[in-house]
Amino acid sequence: GALPRWDRVEHLVVEAHARYRDHAAGDVADYIPVLAAVDPALFGVSVAVVDGELHEAGDTGVEFSVQSISKAFVYALVCEAYGHETVRDRVGVNNTGLPFNSVMALELNDGHPMNPMVNAGALATTAMMPGGTPAEQWENVRTGLSRFAGRPLELDGVVYRSESETNIRNRAIARLLESYGRIETDPLEVVDVYTRQCALRVTARDLAVMGATLADGGVNPVTGERVVSAQVCRDTLAVLASTGLYERSGEWLFEIGLPAKSGVAGGIVAVAPGKGAIGTFSPPLDSAGNSVRGQRATAYLSRALGLNLFASS
Ligand code: GLU
Repeated sequence: GALPRWDRVEHLVVEAHARYRDHAAGDVADYIPVLAAVDPALFGVSVAVVDGELHEAGDTGVEFSVQSISKAFVYALVCEAYGHETVRDRVGVNNTGLPFNSVMALELNDGHPMNPMVNAGALATTAMMPGGTPAEQWENVRTGLSRFAGRPLELDGVVYRSESETNIRNRAIARLLESYGRIETDPLEVVDVYTRQCALRVTARDLAVMGATLADGGVNPVTGERVVSAQVCRDTLAVLASTGLYERSGEWLFEIGLPAKSGVAGGIVAVAPGKGAIGTFSPPLDSAGNSVRGQRATAYLSRALGLNLFASS
């Protein structure tokens, strides 16, 4: 069935925020130096419905870097450009069971990145972005994600520089992909586009609208613009269901029952196909890199709004 009435959803979003606002577990990310300086109390919960309704509570207008959540939308853009079989052959769709920046997963699988939500697969996917130069690819990433959000997204230069100075591991993964013939352009340019992509600034509200575009078969429910095809949305959501929450993806699907993607700056987007999406922001993370309050608020809303895909009623 559809979502409950407007006032019921509004009430539950306010309730999800109030319930977990004082929940202090988790630690903010520190492997990108500038992320360690964020206010851990920031917390926003937003729901976007496929008919264009928005519901929000807390810090839903505060910008943060999209980080790994970008991987879901860049994957959708690359599938839209080349079709999912091409991306599936090159990148794969299976969970690695290993941390997002694992080099071992790549080595164990003869240089096959396994899926587009771990860094190896995300780098291989970004390398496929349409554009004749890295600058054009980056512009296509930025404008593509902006169409999902329904507003122009901008680069956070401070986060970009902080990560650029410290992303030695991603450079190593890109070199390894090159050695296996899975990146054909300059691997360090690919890392640069990827690092910019991760440093795009979004809000919890943006995440809800971006997710609702995937829920709505590729049409942004706020702007009415078609961003990708319905088939691309289906493929993207299938990948998110098995890989979106790092090595806790199985537990997430078990508890919450929705395709979702998290990022180390504290964002999570969870998508209810045909219905809408939940965007949350709270910086403290669990040991896998998922926002603690975001997971709780999303679990609460999934239950209260009846969104679990595996529930028969
Ligand atoms: N830019 C981060 C990295 O590649 C993204 C990490 C994440 O959100 O998982 O290391």
